[in-house]
Amino acid sequence: MDSWLPTLRDTLAGMAAHRAGPVAVAPSGTPILLANNESPLEPLPSVAAVIAEAATQINRYPDAGCVELTADIAAWLEVDPERVVAGCGSVGVLQMLFEAVGEPGADAVYAWRSFDAYPSLARLSGMRPVTVPLADDHHDLAAMAAALTPATRVVIVCNPNNPTGTTVRGEELRDFLDRVPRDCLVVLDEAYREYVRDPGVPDGLDLARDRPNVAVVRTFSKAFGLAGLRVGYLVAHRDVAREVRKTRLPYSVNHLAQVAARASLRAQDELMDRVERTVKERERVRTALTDLDVPVAPSQANFVWLPLHDRTADFAAACAAAGVNVRAYPGDGVRVTIGLPEDNDAFLGAVSHWRTHGEVGAACPR
Ligand SMILES: *Cc1c(COP(=O)(O)O)cnc(C)c1O
Repeated sequence: MDSWLPTLRDTLAGMAAHRAGPVAVAPSGTPILLANNESPLEPLPSVAAVIAEAATQINRYPDAGCVELTADIAAWLEVDPERVVAGCGSVGVLQMLFEAVGEPGADAVYAWRSFDAYPSLARLSGMRPVTVPLADDHHDLAAMAAALTPATRVVIVCNPNNPTGTTVRGEELRDFLDRVPRDCLVVLDEAYREYVRDPGVPDGLDLARDRPNVAVVRTFSKAFGLAGLRVGYLVAHRDVAREVRKTRLPYSVNHLAQVAARASLRAQDELMDRVERTVKERERVRTALTDLDVPVAPSQANFVWLPLHDRTADFAAACAAAGVNVRAYPGDGVRVTIGLPEDNDAFLGAVSHWRTHGEVGAACPR
């Protein structure tokens, strides 16, 4: 009986299992969590109070249509609510989009490296992932345009890109959109939009306004600090939005998530102050890394990317030894979330130590 198994989809065998690595703890204290691009601060008291109040109602199902949340998002963004779809995190929204376009024989095109969720979501929807290498840590939009074929159902541009933090700017993105066939969906993943300060980076909502094949995906997980509750949304053409809504797992945006997201919109001034502090810290950390002679890509997100290539594992181990959790992409580089000033100082301290004592390359020249 041991060898008896139901037939499972072949595509699952090619996918990695979800895993969370161990959390590194410094000998002296609490772990410093700079691996997941979360907000470093607890929920605002006003948001926490709304969540606590809503907890008394969770014997009831949530609003399956997310009607009030959708209306609030639409009013905030000044778009027709019929163009807005909420989902279980923006990963849930991406899954809905992939379900809406994906089937065997169709391709999903995206840059690599980019967001980890794209390969598995593409495969689960039946699509074949087609990756286009980044060029100098940036999207290579010319190469991506060249990779589009009649089989391409969706092309994703993650702007700013996770894990590199780099952006595509107005003219090159508009030129790219003009080259995408009208029947191919373009997903602009703007999970980090609130951290963008470069005025040359276009707002996806402007690009989507007169392009029915463009969908913009955003989240409450990062700037709004609700990663643990799972709320994201998309803005697309109303006909696209209507069809994509059908793919939502019923009740997948839970009641606490819906009320917390609405409360966060009401508290957005305070939350955007927090974002502004993160942006200032980002620039401080980047300057400090450059002063330490560590390579760092330009970033418009709440993290920085260090293209350390074969020094990646060594660097990440040095951070872990200091209790600083970063995200290592073996062979490519390290992504480090911008945290509170004291967290960032702990990280920079670990880097400084690595530069002066720990670097394997210093002892054995390559
Ligand atoms: C973090 C992130 C998301 C979102 O996550 P959710 O928590 O599911 O909203 C989406 N796209 C990118 C590129 C991200 O980095």
